[in-house]
Formats: sequence, C-alpha cells, structure tokens
Amino acid sequence: MAVCSWDLKNNDYFRKQDRSYNSKDEEMNMKIPFTGGCSCGAIRYESTAEPIMMFKCHCRDCQQATGGAFVPGMLLSREAFRFTRGQLRYHFTPSLRGGKHKRGFCPECGSRLTGGEFEGRDSPFIGILAGTLDDPSWFQPQMDIFVSDAQQWDKMDPAIPKFEQYPPIPTKE
Ligand SMILES: [Zn+2]
Ligand SMILES: [Zn+2]
Repeated sequence: MAVCSWDLKNNDYFRKQDRSYNSKDEEMNMKIPFTGGCSCGAIRYESTAEPIMMFKCHCRDCQQATGGAFVPGMLLSREAFRFTRGQLRYHFTPSLRGGKHKRGFCPECGSRLTGGEFEGRDSPFIGILAGTLDDPSWFQPQMDIFVSDAQQWDKMDPAIPKFEQYPPIPTKE
C-alpha cells in the first residue's frame, strides 16, 4: 500500500510547467484573495496568492481520510495563507517522504481541510482540499497522482498526466 503526502520538492518545476499541464487554455475564474472553510463555519481561511499546483491524489490514505475516491488538492504558499477563524486538529499518516503527513480537520464538524504538511517540520507550503473553497468551481486539476492506488470505479480525466506515485523529479534542461 502506498502512503501519501503531497510532493513539496518539485514546486518550481510545476510552477514553470503549469501551462503544459493544463488541458484547456481557459482562464480560471479565481479571485485573489480567495477564501474557504469547513462545513460548520468554525474554521475559515484566506489565501492572497494563487495555488502553486492543483492535482487529484488517489492514494489509499486520502481515500480513507475523506471516504471518497480521491482528494482534490491545491498546494499553496504558507506565507500567503492564513486561518482567519478557528483552530484545526490533526490526524497523521505515514509518508513515503519520511515522517508523518499532517492532515488537518475541523474539531467541531470533522471536515477535512488541509494536508501537505509534516509533523514537527515547518513547511513553506500548505495543501488545501478544493471542496473547502467558497467557490470550488475554478479548481482545475493539472495531474492525477498515486494512481497506483486508484479504484476501478474512480474514472479519471484521460487528458491530464498520470503518475503512479509522486510526479517525477525534473531533470535540468
Ligand atoms: Zn467545522
Ligand atoms: Zn493522497
């Protein structure tokens, strides 16, 4: 069984490659800053920068944590991100990258909100689940990751790249 955490090392790569990962050349309807929160409203957040990357993670841990087929995730700059209300609680799962993947949820309603951070380590990034956005309609996944764990009833978009686990480490051009 593969274990997951979002890939934090290849961000520059994906930032540069953004266009080639977009299947359609559509402009996103994203408005900066964008906001979101949990189901009950106890947790609220805001980001003043656009996402660094957007993806769907099909790993078994994401399936169990959400009760769904995949996590629609966005990697954000931690610097541009802040919680405007409430305090998360955390659940931890082992990560292939070593250590424990930190998954944040609302202690009041149980909504899953965050990932992409690690226990005991400061990260320049935070992962947010797209369904927690106030306007999730602009979410545009650029790739499918951990497809090795995907369920056969989980139908994927053939137009975006697929990775067995993490996306590959880029080679220098
Ligand atoms: Zn809540
Ligand atoms: Zn995952």
